[in-house]
Order: sequence, then structure tokens, then C-alpha cells
Amino acid sequence: MAIRVLDPKVAGRIAAGEVVERPASVVKELVENSLDAGATRVSVEARGGGVGLIRVTDDGSGIGTDEVETAFGRFATSKLGTADDLYSITTLGFRGEALPSIAAVADVEAITCLGGRASGDFVRLHDGEVAEHRPAGRSTGTTVTVRGLFRAVPARLKFLRSAATENAHIARVVSRYALAFPEVGFTLDIDGRTVLNTPGTGRDTDAVAAVYGAEVASKLLPIRADDAPRWQDGGPEVAGMVGGPDLSRANRDSLSLFVNRRWISSRNLAWAVEEAYQGMLMTGRHPVAIIKIRIPPGEVDVNIHPTKAEVKFRNERAMFAAVQKAVRSTLVESAPLARIEDPVAPYTAPPSARQSWSTPRPAPSTFMLPLEATPTPGAVLPALRVLGQLDSTYIIAEGPDGLYLIDQHAAHERVVYERVLDQQARRQVEVQGLLEPVPLEVTPEQDEVLRDGYKQLEAFGFSIEPFGNRTYLVRSIPAVLGGKEWGAMMREALDAVIEGKRTDWTEDITVTLACHSAIRAGQTLTDNEMRELVRQLEQTGVPRSCPHGRPAVIHLSTRQLEREFRRA
Ligand code: ADP
Ligand code: MG
Repeated sequence: MAIRVLDPKVAGRIAAGEVVERPASVVKELVENSLDAGATRVSVEARGGGVGLIRVTDDGSGIGTDEVETAFGRFATSKLGTADDLYSITTLGFRGEALPSIAAVADVEAITCLGGRASGDFVRLHDGEVAEHRPAGRSTGTTVTVRGLFRAVPARLKFLRSAATENAHIARVVSRYALAFPEVGFTLDIDGRTVLNTPGTGRDTDAVAAVYGAEVASKLLPIRADDAPRWQDGGPEVAGMVGGPDLSRANRDSLSLFVNRRWISSRNLAWAVEEAYQGMLMTGRHPVAIIKIRIPPGEVDVNIHPTKAEVKFRNERAMFAAVQKAVRSTLVESAPLARIEDPVAPYTAPPSARQSWSTPRPAPSTFMLPLEATPTPGAVLPALRVLGQLDSTYIIAEGPDGLYLIDQHAAHERVVYERVLDQQARRQVEVQGLLEPVPLEVTPEQDEVLRDGYKQLEAFGFSIEPFGNRTYLVRSIPAVLGGKEWGAMMREALDAVIEGKRTDWTEDITVTLACHSAIRAGQTLTDNEMRELVRQLEQTGVPRSCPHGRPAVIHLSTRQLEREFRRA
């Protein structure tokens, strides 16, 4: 095919694909514009998962009559003057791509009024072009309304998930900005319901309470970094709030990082935070933390990705060390009762970028088993004789062909998982009633999925109903939980649904339920308990792995042992 320069409309749509991935991206860009315009109040409205309508209203500077059409042109920005300015960015936007990108994939209207003017402008764009521009009345500020997102890009529309999930992503975006800008009052309305309302007092605790609930806010410690450099002296200055070890989560969603008020995604810095908790959190648990970093703008490059969520630091190691130190000293000073193995946390090299984030770090150990032990492949387990427990974590057992090591948590997870499925199939779910209804408070994003699906939880033994204001009343819980902390289980399951790793809600709930009900590593078991667990494991359909796919059993065959001991 001959080489041709693309039609500008096609080029615009291709570029839009990078900026506008899903409805939440539109919300992000519009909110950033409001914040850049100095707004003190930002209200966001979404309908139909954001595909029907997204509207962002602010009381910021507004746009002048002569400029309002220009603002929708590609690479039109008031935030950068020269190429050098790229290296000292202090605004959230700067690429001049958001408004034209949104207009390329949706119908857009804006009403705006520049400060000091008596009236403003209305513009309407269709197919990326200005279709209407006339005077309109409003007070200082801007309202942008986006309708029919991706209607002209069916391929993109197909990739969107349920309205509830898209809503949850929108809620997440607004929540992040609410945390980053506590002095701005945010409201978020989804399909006519107010799901978030922050007071805009400027205090971190108030913003955190609005997003995570009062209980979490009361458990967060303000970061102390008295001896840290100030950002004017080259920084990095680290502020924010961190949760004590009792506030852990099963995933990293509650760890938010901000650099010069921009939410960023950084495995490296997330790892620095986790490092600071060394010895305080159980394996597989992650902290709740809001980390706000300030550095001179020249120290960070925010222009490496169209969504501006990934950044590059001039001195990555210094950033890592500063974050780790600030979090660590806050935890050590504020929580002297926590079990702390090495109070002076040494600098640890971050994992290389290539290393998979989910790869667990090997536990420090002087003795390594030189055997090529393999997870048992077969679907069934032979009858096993329990020999003892290792490290309060593994059961050692003997079988017809060698030695079996069983991870007690993974094994029990598998047992509970199959029990839950079985009870559901037979419609005989064991339920434990609570003495009185207990309120469960969830975040705006969790609320979006729970509101949609709380009835599905009944099949598991939960009796739960909405109680208004992101609160639900729980009257009964599944008996398999055995009185364990079900609130954490519920939040984790909701997060899993939002992440959308699975297509089926039920599967997420079952897996999380099993994980939370199962005995933990580190728990000493009696001989009887071990025998009972092994017996139950033998009867499951897939005894060799837990529902997450982690091995539950490692088998060392007699042949392997003979080889290792050079007997054969
Ligand atoms: P960028 O934010 O990268 O400059 P955008 O396409 O998002 O690019 O916006 C283009 C320009 O439109 C901005 O630089 C700003 O001058 C103006 N603008 C957009 N939204 C607003 C708003 N809510 N209030 C005031 N000005 C705005
Ligand atoms: Mg912008």
C-alpha cells in the first residue's frame, strides 16, 4: 500500500486512544484541568458508567471567549511556553491533548466564563469540530459535559467492562485527587447518587476520612520527617499518612503515591514503602499509605507517557531512600509496640524493573534445600501419615513414595474453597447470625460494585443490605469464616471484583472467603488437627494447589531422596 499522511481526523482518533482509554480517563483529564485552573470546588457527575454522560464543573479561572475554540485544538495549552518549560512542569496538564482527544471520541459541550466577565461562552463540538459557539451566562468557572463516549469507536466500547466497574474506576480517580488536594472540595455523583463529598478543609485527615471512612482515618499516622531535606533545598520532601501494621490490606490498592501532587504509579516507590514495614506485616499483606512527595520540578520527568501517570526521577535511589526512611521512622516512633526486627532499616536495592512485581522475595535463610522438589503433579493425594510440623507453617508427612511437605494455609484454603462450592451446589450454606447488625463502611469505588451485587452475597451466607451513605448492615456471615474478621474479607473481595481479574463475581468471593477462613501460616497445630487437615485435603478435587494457584503440596520421591543422598 502506498504511504500517505493520515487524515487529521484519523490521526486524532489514534492519538485519543492513548489519552482516553476508558471513561475514568476522561474524568481524570477534566479534573486535572479544573485543578490547574485553581478551582476550590470540583464536582463530577457520571451516568451509565461514564458512557452516557460525564460532567465536570469547577469554579476555576474559566476560559476567555477568544480562546475557548483554541483550547480544543491539538497541542493547544496555556501551560507551556517554550520547550525548556517541559523541564519545570508545575501543572498537572501540559501536553495540550486532553480536550481534543476527548472531542475526537465523544460529543463535548463546554460552558465557561473567565473571571471578571459578566457572561461567558457555550461551545459544542461534534466529531472533533466546533459545531456551535455562542454567548452563555454562568459564574466564573468551567463546566465540560461529555456524552456518547466511544459511540463512534465501537471497538473501544467493546473493551469496557460493566457500568459498575467503570463507575468504580471513576470513583478511584476522583478519590485520588481528593487525597492529593485536601483543600479542594470534591463531589462525585454517580447516576444521581452522591458517592463522595470532601470538605476541602486542607487537612489530610478530613480528605482521608471522606474517602476511606472515619475508622481508617483515625488509624493513620501523619508522616514525620523532621530531619528530611526540604524540597526547596533539593528535596525530596516526604509527607502524607501511613497506616499502622493493624491496618493492612491484601493488595496494593490502598497505597497511593503522589509527586508534586500528581498521582503516580511507581513499583519502585511502592516497594520502598513496603520495605519500611519490614517485620511488621504478615507476608502477603500490604499497607494503607498516602505518600506525598515534593521535589523541585526539574528533578522529575513527567513527560514519558501520554497519561502522565509514570514519571522518571533524576535520582531514583535518593527517592527510594527518602520514602523508605520517612515511612520507617514514622512507624518506629509511633508504634513502639510493633515487632521490629531491625530498627535501622538498611538501604536495599530496589528490584530491577524487569523483575515481576509479584515475585516474592526469597526469605533470608542460611540453609537452602538443594533438592529439586516439585509440586506434586497428580490430581489425587495418596494416604499420608503426618510426621510433624515445620516452622508452624508446613506439615511434614510420609506417603507410599517419599516425603510430602504441605503448606497448611494453602491446603486449608483448598479445603474451604471446595466446601463453599459444595455447599452452594447443594444450596445448604451454613450461616452464622450476628448478635446485632454490624455496619460495614466501604470506599466509593467498593460501593459501586457492592451496590450492584450485594444480593449475590446471600448465596454465600452473608445477609447484607444497603444502609445509605456507603454503609451496609450485615446480619449474618458464612459459618466457614469461623468468626474471623469478615469486614476485611469483604473489602478484599470487592477490590478483586474491581480489578476484574475474573469475569465471575462468585469466583472472587469464593477465593477470598477461602483465604480468610483458612488457618494461617505461623499457627501451631496439634497432631490431631494436622491429621484432620491432611485427611480433608486428600478428599478435595485438586489437592496440589490452593485456589490462587499456589502449590499446596511439595513431594520428594524416594528416588529423589536416594539420588540426593547418593544411595542410588
Ligand atoms: P493541557 O491541560 O495539557 O494544557 P487540555 O487539552 O487539557 O491541555 O486543555 C487545553 C487548555 O484549555 C488548557 O491549557 C487550559 O488553558 C484550558 N482549559 C481546559 N480546561 C479548563 C478549565 N476547566 N478551566 C480553565 N481552563 C481550562
Ligand atoms: Mg489538561
